[in-house]
Amino acid sequence: MYKRLIILSVIILAALCGLTWMGYHSIRIRAQGLQGARLGEFAAVAEQIRQDVTRKLDEFMQTEQNRPYTDYQYYYVPENVAPGQQQMPVLRSPLAGRLEQGLAYGNFQIEPDGGVITPNDNVDQRQDLAESDKDLYAKAGLNRKNIEDNLLPAMRGTVPGSLKMNLYSQGGIAPPAESETVQPGRLSKETSQKSKSSQNYPIESLQSKDLKTQVYRQRREVFEQNVLSNTAAQPQQQQAQQTEAQIEQAGGPDRQQAASINESQTETVQVRIEPFFPVVVPGGQTSGDPALQQAESIFGGQVFLLRHVQIEDRHLLQGFQLNETKLVEQIEESASRFMREGMSFELSPGANTRDPQGTYAAILNFGFGDLVLNLKEIDPGWIGKEIRHLRIWYFSIIAIVLLAVTLGLASLWRNATAQIRLTQKKDDFISAVSHELRTPLTSIRMYSEMLEKNWVKSQDKAAEYYTNMRQESERLSRLIENVLDFSRIQRGRKKYAFNAGDINKSVADVVEMMRPYALLKGFSIRTEPAPIEQATFDADAVTQIIVNLLDNAIKYARGAEDKTIIVRTKTDGKFTLIEVEDHGPGIPHRQRNKIFGQFYRPAAEATRETTGTGLGLALVKKFAEAHNGFVEIISAKPTGAIFRVALATQT
Ligand code: ADP
Repeated sequence: MYKRLIILSVIILAALCGLTWMGYHSIRIRAQGLQGARLGEFAAVAEQIRQDVTRKLDEFMQTEQNRPYTDYQYYYVPENVAPGQQQMPVLRSPLAGRLEQGLAYGNFQIEPDGGVITPNDNVDQRQDLAESDKDLYAKAGLNRKNIEDNLLPAMRGTVPGSLKMNLYSQGGIAPPAESETVQPGRLSKETSQKSKSSQNYPIESLQSKDLKTQVYRQRREVFEQNVLSNTAAQPQQQQAQQTEAQIEQAGGPDRQQAASINESQTETVQVRIEPFFPVVVPGGQTSGDPALQQAESIFGGQVFLLRHVQIEDRHLLQGFQLNETKLVEQIEESASRFMREGMSFELSPGANTRDPQGTYAAILNFGFGDLVLNLKEIDPGWIGKEIRHLRIWYFSIIAIVLLAVTLGLASLWRNATAQIRLTQKKDDFISAVSHELRTPLTSIRMYSEMLEKNWVKSQDKAAEYYTNMRQESERLSRLIENVLDFSRIQRGRKKYAFNAGDINKSVADVVEMMRPYALLKGFSIRTEPAPIEQATFDADAVTQIIVNLLDNAIKYARGAEDKTIIVRTKTDGKFTLIEVEDHGPGIPHRQRNKIFGQFYRPAAEATRETTGTGLGLALVKKFAEAHNGFVEIISAKPTGAIFRVALATQT
């Protein structure tokens, strides 16, 4: 039994250890998984931002690429004039009167001679300028100056060959110091140093990837005065492209106003518009309004987007400055839209300015400069915290399971021990009962045999033997009665008959029944009845209670000097009390509760010398409880024990 329990305990504890180990490792793997998943989320967010920024730039670049080249001039002649509507004045460019639109700032055109014209030219000379317009044109003037002072000198060696030649031949732009042609793009020699842990996200839009050169032919007409008779243009390519006709005179308001050429001839011209290419002018102010923006550029200089426009043999450069502030705003807008829970971001220029605290650095590569998107955790320790919580939960559960298992095992051990003890007690009981039965039976058989064979000659002796036989039979009956009652109680079949009666009389009857037996053992029994009118009790149970208590007193006080047993009745109103007092060894305090247990027999000498089943007092207790009462032990004077049985007056 114990061996099995030990094996079971070891298996359960080993399983728990295994579970703890597995849990610990699972949590570790979970932590790694969380980190990986989070990194994946950062990468996904960075990619989403990149795609969104790319889409915005694509749309913007597409619009700008499709912008008619005439928009870059102050005036133009509308193309969609119905035939016969001859009296049509030239129109202002849609870009006139404003500097910003989308990501573009200050559109301009560079003439072959290096002259700069913008859609806002000449307006400052007007007398009727509104106060707000004055401000606008002041800024337009600054913008033009910025182009002349910074862009033109920096463009040496960067413009495409054909245009360069044309420009240089016109003497507008100084030829480059080096003979080699520098490719369009970043002028700065500075190269981006990308961090190993960073992801590079190239923005295709500004790398001229998808933009194609547009070439188309259209009819050109030269007019006598500043009016137009336009015929339908016929683009050969790029149907989406508006057919900006007639701008033979393109090149500036002065030229447009000089359209009154006194000749009228019609011919077809070829217009070629190349895709935009970026040019970064190192240093200088940031993009946007140069008068207001003093901060250093995040791309290390002003970013211009230029396109080469060729009308027959005329070469022009058209373009605008990239509004860096707007671009950053657009990126920030995309970033805040795609940011996931617990993330924040920061934008910083250049790959080498990656935030060391940043969880994830995505480098947005615009072709002319990098922008680092530092994606950060708002709470960098959240994974650690989550894992700590998980650990606490898991180990708390394990601790509870361990506690439950320990309690379960302890209870199993207790039950097993109790079971073993009970089995032991039952064995003892069986041997005790056998012994108890054998002793009176042997006596009865011996006496009856002697009487039967007429070996007893004396009449007195014969009478004594008969008395002994009766007493032994009574002892047998008491024993069998106890065993049967115990069995009935165990099986819940014990029936009580509570009747009102004279308890003193019942007590006296039992005493009289037991007196000869007591006398034989050298004891005298004294009764001290209290005046109790009536009590409700089960007569058989009360008989058995007194018989068992008297039997014990005779058995265990046999060595006492005072061999008087006192049987008392008392009442306190609530209980009817029956007391049996002897002057034997008494019951030690530590045993007073135990001796009422089933089969319990202490190892004391007085007990060892007597036979018994350990059932007597257990039955006394059960009978008392059946009367809603109790049993207690009081020490007698000078020695001995008083067993007090209390029976409730009303049961
Ligand atoms: P049994 O007498 O068969 O052993 P009981 O249940 O009647 O079983 O008694 C239990 C134990 O209580 C006895 O073994 C004995 O040690 C102790 N005991 C009972 N009555 C007395 C008494 N009057 N004096 C001393 N010890 C007693």
